[in-house]
Order: sequence, then structure tokens, then C-alpha cells
Amino acid sequence: MAGRGRELYAHGPVAVSSSLSATGVRWDLTDLEPDAEQARRDWEELLARASDFAERRRGTIGAAGAQGLRALLDELDVLAQDISRVHFYATAREHTEATDPETNDLATLARDRAADLERTLLFVELEWLALEDAEADALLEAAELEPYRHRLRVAREEKPYVLPEGEEQALNARRPAISAWESLHGRELATLTVEFDGGEGPEPHTIDRLLSYVHHPDRELRVAALDVLYEALESVADVQAACYDALVGDRLSLDRLRGIPYPMWPTNQRNELDGDVVEAMLAAIEEHYPLGRRWFVRKAKALGLDRLQLADQYAPVGSDRRVEWTEAVAMVEDSLRDFEPRLGEIFRTCIDRAHIDAEPRPGKVGGAYCNSVSKTVLPYVLLNYTDQLRDVVTLAHEFGHAVHGTLSLERQTYRSYHTGLAIAEVPSTFAQLLAVERLIELEEDPATRVMLLADRAEGAMASIFRQTMMARFEERAYAARGEGKALTRDRLAETWMEENERYYADSLELPEGYGLGWSYIPHFIHVRFYTYAYAFAHLVAFSLLARYRADPEQFTRAYLDFLASGASRSPQDLLAPLGVDLRSPDAWADAFAEFDRCVGEAGAGLDALDAA
Ligand SMILES: [Zn+2]
Repeated sequence: MAGRGRELYAHGPVAVSSSLSATGVRWDLTDLEPDAEQARRDWEELLARASDFAERRRGTIGAAGAQGLRALLDELDVLAQDISRVHFYATAREHTEATDPETNDLATLARDRAADLERTLLFVELEWLALEDAEADALLEAAELEPYRHRLRVAREEKPYVLPEGEEQALNARRPAISAWESLHGRELATLTVEFDGGEGPEPHTIDRLLSYVHHPDRELRVAALDVLYEALESVADVQAACYDALVGDRLSLDRLRGIPYPMWPTNQRNELDGDVVEAMLAAIEEHYPLGRRWFVRKAKALGLDRLQLADQYAPVGSDRRVEWTEAVAMVEDSLRDFEPRLGEIFRTCIDRAHIDAEPRPGKVGGAYCNSVSKTVLPYVLLNYTDQLRDVVTLAHEFGHAVHGTLSLERQTYRSYHTGLAIAEVPSTFAQLLAVERLIELEEDPATRVMLLADRAEGAMASIFRQTMMARFEERAYAARGEGKALTRDRLAETWMEENERYYADSLELPEGYGLGWSYIPHFIHVRFYTYAYAFAHLVAFSLLARYRADPEQFTRAYLDFLASGASRSPQDLLAPLGVDLRSPDAWADAFAEFDRCVGEAGAGLDALDAA
């Protein structure tokens, strides 16, 4: 859950400087494990416990009745949380001490043991799916199974598409060969470096580092960085297209075997969203593309240009300022506490217990995420704090996840706390919007206010418009491959440019080389139609902000209940009490009004700067 859905905002290589204010802010992992030795012992113990569980419970899912199934699921819930804790200990160390030999051994052990455990415990899901409908329905009615009911019901929805066990195992055995395409795609990108002069002489640049110039105030540098990027992508485009073609082809042939109704179905299923709800949302977003274009025209004027180029899309307007770590912590804490004291308390406890790693340093991964470990361990947050205003927004975003995880794990079973991506990104986006609003309100420097207003509007455009554009690109790629057309670099480039032009129209100039813009987006390779969840979450968060303003007290109560409900209800049922009806034709009216307001306020900020 690291991404903020801003693919062009990808963090560059982590700037390491001892003058950064988050120096020394590292997490303390002792709530997970005291040391690697104990972690190793725990893996062995977990394996033994899982084997014993499987021996006792295998074959009992239908036979044990509601009470027996409840006991089984409760036992599995505890086991799964212990696995989560020991597993995250290895992952967390790997993410912060990549060069430590003990850490690497532990990470390898964790991967092997986690796979063993998954195989050992898989029978529970398979036996649940194997039950006849009447048998399963009777169990679902039982009061004993209430804490698991919704998740069990959702799991059954996949039953028609699951093949006999032998076939599933044969398909699983192909997994390494399929992963090889994903790895090849990633390796081509990760190893691609080009010489570029960012002002301090020519240096080798990775793709991420080249992309980070889109925030640079110097226009020549922005344009040159993207030109160099697209030129470099030329050399890998055939391989990237071959990887994508192979993966899409494989997914579609599996879909045919399973009888999956349409290419977006598996993603919609994980998000628990109906295809027509998603389609109505995408269509409503496309209708609002002119809102983005209006901003690009206004921004061109602010930058003294006739028209923006792609490289100007995220060019800074107004002015940035440094934010010390302590100020950021106070800002996010106040913003959460102001909304509801309990959320501020969760944040404070995580900070005091050192459940956060904010210091950028060598051997640490880039980006940001939150991991809600279990019912007994507070969430852990990783980010790379570089004293920028944008980092405050990231901090708020990750703690939106943390408060969601904490409250839902308090009330739900472990099985029922974890939602699909679309809902998971709602609390994080909402927390981020609250923090940004506070930053804007408290900012004394008018130019910095403008920067914040513009960043808020552009962040929304990146999440809502660009992620939708990408989902449409994918739809067309799957449709073409499904008709037996190869996904060559040229075909993908043409589709990519057409979908981008539908969004930008003539408000922004797309460079020739941008036809390869599809080739470095990892989501296309790893999870199909991943991107629309960001658009969904941003729209929902906008709607919630409007509701909150209309009736803070009533909204806050309903929102806390939403957080504590986790994944125990469908998105439709989770959001209805908050005043968002996904099935209504005007489901998104409030959201677009809020979006419009953000863009309007950013424009008004620019006007005020002009006038001053
Ligand atoms: Zn997130």
C-alpha cells in the first residue's frame, strides 16, 4: 500500500544527507522479535504448529458444523497473525538493512517458510470452496460464524471459476516461468541508466531519477530529462512489449479456461466492486477531463507559456519550503486529533513506540508504506522523509492506513480486517486531504500556499484522471490481445498516445517519444487494472470531505464505525452510512464538486500571486 497513485511523482533515489531533520528516526522492531535467532526458532515453531493444525483439521470443514468451523477459524486467525508478525520482522529488516548478511539469510528463510506455510494451510480455503452451496449457505447463516461471514461469502463467489485441484496445481507449477517475464521487465528498467547532466556535470541516471526532474523549476532541465528518458526507453521497448504481450496473453488464456467473464473481473472481485459500478465511475471521470485541461491552460499562463508540454505538468508554481520532522509530526498529529482525538492517540503511540522509520539512508528501500501486523502489534510505517512539504502529505497518508488497520483489528477478526485496494486507499487519502487542508490554512507565506493548492489539485488529477486513462489503456490492450492481435511496441504506443490525447486534448503537448510512456509502469505488469482503485479512493475521499464539512459530528461517528468495520462488509454497505451510494447515478456528484473546488482554489491562488 505504498503508492499514492502518482506515477510521475515516483521518488528518485533517496537523497542521503546528514542535514536531513529525520536523521535517527528509525523503527524499533522488538515488538516483532527480539533478534534474528528468535525469529529463526519461531519459524520452526510455526511450521510445527501449522502441520499439527493441518493434521487435526484436514477434512473437517464441512463435517464439524458451525461451532467446529468457528473454532478452526479462530485457531487459524491466531496462527496467521503470528506468521504475519514473524514475516514482517524479516521484511522490515530487509527494507532497511539490505546489505546485512544476517538480514539476507533471514529474508530467504522467511520466503521459503512462508511458502511452506501457505501450502500447509491452503486446505482450509479449498475445503470451504468444495462444499455444496446448500451446506455452505447453512453455515453462513449460523450465528457462530458471524465474525467471518462476509469474507467466507466473498470467497465462495470464486467457486465457479476454480478448476479441479490437480489442474490448479499444474497451473501453479507454471508460476516461476510466468514470474520470469515480470522479473525481466523489472530488471530491464532497474538496470537502465543514462548519462544526464542535471546541473552538476554528466552522471548516470536511473529512470526514477530522470522522472524526478518533472518537479524541477528549470524548464530546460525538465524537458531534457524526459527527452533523455524516452530515448533510453527505445533500447528496451521491444523487450518490455514482449513481456507485456506474454503476460496479457497468459492471463487471457487462463481466464478462458476458468470461464472468467471479462478481463477486469478478477480485479473487481478483489475490490468487491461490480463491473457496472466501476464502468460508471470511469465514464463519469472521463466526462470531467475538461476540468484538468482548464488547469493546464491556467498553469501555462502562470509559467509564461503558450501551452504546457508534458514535462511542465508537475512544474512547481508558488514556492516550496523546508519542513522539519518535528513540525511534520505535530502537523499530522494535530490534524488527526482535531478530526477525532482517538486517531491522534494512535498516531502518537506509534511515534512514541518507534513504530516508524523515516530516515533516508543507504540500504533502505524508497517509497512509503504502512503494515498493520496483527491484533496485538501496532502498525509499522516506513517512509523517506526529505524535509519537503510533500513528505508531510505522505506521512499523513500512511497514518490514514495505520488508524484504519488499528481500529479494524480491534473490532474484527484478522481474516475480516484487510480490505481490497479500492477501500484500503480511502482512509489514507482522506487523512492526506485533512492534513493538506490544515497545511493550507496555517501557511503564512502566500507563495507557499499556492504551491500547496496546486499540489493538491495536481495530486487529485494524477490519481483520478491519469489512473483512469491507464485503466482505459489496459482495457484496449486486453481487448486487442483477446482478438488475437500481438501487443507490439507500436500498437501499444499508438493506444497509449490515443488515450493520453483523450485526456489532455490540446491543453498540453505530448512529445513524440511519449509513445513509450506505458513501458515503465510496473502496475501493468504485476496486477491488471490496479490503477483504478486510486481514482475510486480519491473520489470517495473527496465525497467524505464534503460530508464531513456538512455535519462534522454525525460524520465523525459514522467514519469511526467505517474504520472499525474493516472488510467485514461490502464497499457498498461500508460507504452507504457515510452518504456515498455507489449504485446511484449521481454517486460522484459531491466528489466532482469538491475536485472542482480544489482546481478553482489553485487557480484563484495563482490569480492572487499575479495581482500581488
Ligand atoms: Zn496508500
